[in-house]
Amino acid sequence: MGEATGHGVDLSGAEIRGGLEDRNPPIFLPRQPAASPLLALDIGGTLIKLVYTASCGGGADGADLRFAKFERRRLHECFDFIRAEGLLACNGGTRPGGENMTLKATGGGAYKFADDFLEKLGVCLDKLDEMDSVVSGANFLLQNIPGAAFTHMNGQRNPVDVSPNNLFPYLLVNIGSGVSILKVTGNRKFERVTGTHIGGGTMFGLAKLLTGCKSYDEFLQLSQKGDNFVLDLIVKDICGELVCQKQGLSTSTLASSFGKVITSEKKLTDYKPEDIASTLLSAFTYNIAQIAFLVASLLGLRRVFFGGSYIRGHKSTMENISYAIDFWSQSQMQAVFLRHEGYLGALGALMSYGDPSGENLTLEEKEPHHESAPVDGTSVDEENDSNIFPYLLVNIGSGVSMIEVIGKGKFERIIGSHLGGGTILGLARLLTGCSSYEEFLELSQRGNNLSVDLTVGDIYGGEGYPKVGLPASTTAASFGKVNSSKLSEYKVEDLAAALLNSFTYNIGQIAYFVANLSGLKRIFFRGAYVCGHEKTMDKISRSLKYWSKGEVQTTFLCHEGFLGTLGAFWSYENMGIDSLAAHEVIREVLLGAPYTGQFPSLPVTQQQENGEHSTLEGEVESLRHDNAMLKAEVERLQRENVELRAKLVRSGETSTFDL
Ligand code: ADP
Repeated sequence: MGEATGHGVDLSGAEIRGGLEDRNPPIFLPRQPAASPLLALDIGGTLIKLVYTASCGGGADGADLRFAKFERRRLHECFDFIRAEGLLACNGGTRPGGENMTLKATGGGAYKFADDFLEKLGVCLDKLDEMDSVVSGANFLLQNIPGAAFTHMNGQRNPVDVSPNNLFPYLLVNIGSGVSILKVTGNRKFERVTGTHIGGGTMFGLAKLLTGCKSYDEFLQLSQKGDNFVLDLIVKDICGELVCQKQGLSTSTLASSFGKVITSEKKLTDYKPEDIASTLLSAFTYNIAQIAFLVASLLGLRRVFFGGSYIRGHKSTMENISYAIDFWSQSQMQAVFLRHEGYLGALGALMSYGDPSGENLTLEEKEPHHESAPVDGTSVDEENDSNIFPYLLVNIGSGVSMIEVIGKGKFERIIGSHLGGGTILGLARLLTGCSSYEEFLELSQRGNNLSVDLTVGDIYGGEGYPKVGLPASTTAASFGKVNSSKLSEYKVEDLAAALLNSFTYNIGQIAYFVANLSGLKRIFFRGAYVCGHEKTMDKISRSLKYWSKGEVQTTFLCHEGFLGTLGAFWSYENMGIDSLAAHEVIREVLLGAPYTGQFPSLPVTQQQENGEHSTLEGEVESLRHDNAMLKAEVERLQRENVELRAKLVRSGETSTFDL
């Protein structure tokens, strides 16, 4: 990015002021004239972000880029700040001829609140495309600000040297209220590949309801003190340490977030808010990291930059993301963070001052696209047994396991998700007090998710965000509208409806990506949370239809005798999974998330896992096994002996051997 023209930002010699640990430190622009200050805004679904230039004081040359943020629901505080800091004089003040001055603004609120800005501050908002602003903000930081990007893993923070030659292409995962995922191939060259409605708004919304916390920082602090093992189901809880050892599974693998809640008598008030906060943070952070990994794999990208206020410089959040990306990619991908992660959109908007090409911004491509072949819509009914393989089998138990079935009795686990049926029911218990999955489904049918879900229309207004194909009715962030920390203020039916929507759509999205990634053209669903539950099947069907743009037809495998209105019955034998169905333990534990503890460690090696204590236990088990084998062999010999004796008696010979 070169120097800006006109009354723009002069980037030459830009550098961050302040220590490594400082949050959003000012960026010093030595050649920027302090006399002509600039201000730009990013008005998002949750937060309003401001970036402005200000004199460094003492009559020194140059100016500082400064950062400030406000909650969107407290717009008046933002107005007060702009007035108090004298920022209304920005961008040249009132234009000649009494014309209202114009501020560059991005985010949905730039559309929704334009009239408020005019009425309260007398300024017009020059609206800029959100995705374009986020990308130019990221590119500005990466190309102009030394030390702007860093990695955070195993407690170590390391700067990332990004030279313009090795920057592109990269994946940008912007975690705000919802999540947008963009493939960036150059300056102004990008594509919004996909996004997820399970983002910062979801985590913070649920955190308010479940922990009573009032601020995001309070929530993050709580999560530091908590223990997620209290609520999360891990592999060891399901199959015990020995089975884990035998199958080479790490005992602490996260099987189902909130999965322990469903077998406990405890009520919401019996849990410590700290433990709930810790569970929420790992559940959502891993889910976002997993989707980022799948999309990066689909696009063949190795470097993934994470932005958005969700990260908030929080160490555990960054550690979890880094660990998950490294684990799933087998160290082939790297998670990179930005020091000004929450201000990408606002920075991009600021960069557009004096840039004539910034006026009519267009996206490179409007349609989300996937590099591999889309999953086709071939109906199972049209198939015969011989060509049903290979297919993706998605098993929704406490967690979700995704298995590639290659042929009869031949299958291979691909990946799993820790947000499964146990998560839905666990959260349903805590939020609604329901006692069974049926009761939860029944509640969800009577509820309206829009009272808690934040839609694109809530952020942008009635027009939605058509440029990237998001109509007003699309959910931008499940639970993103929750403002109160009082659970009693929300109807249990509405909470149930939002829960069912958010998690079934998440499972559908991950399944769709996994099928694409593995080149599988058919997806079948089965499992305790699907079979016999038409409402769940209906949501999953809709979800697959949504993510695949109608290209996928979803099929459900149900137990004999059941023929759902939406699902087709296929016997396990026909599907080649009769042996898989018998392995209930494997069915439950073939899951995906790598870790559950507060501070991630490297994946446990077999040697590490076979510690002193477990080796002894393992030996006892193996001796027991040998003993049983020997017993069986003795019994077989005894039977043989009896048969031989009988033969000898029949042939008139006398037995000469006895046992
Ligand atoms: P948006 O543009 O949608 O407002 P942001 O990038 O500003 O998105 O991120 C909003 C998310 O950041 C919230 O959903 C929450 O998870 C997190 N967050 C960080 N700081 C705060 C805060 N002070 N108040 C509320 N949410 C915060």
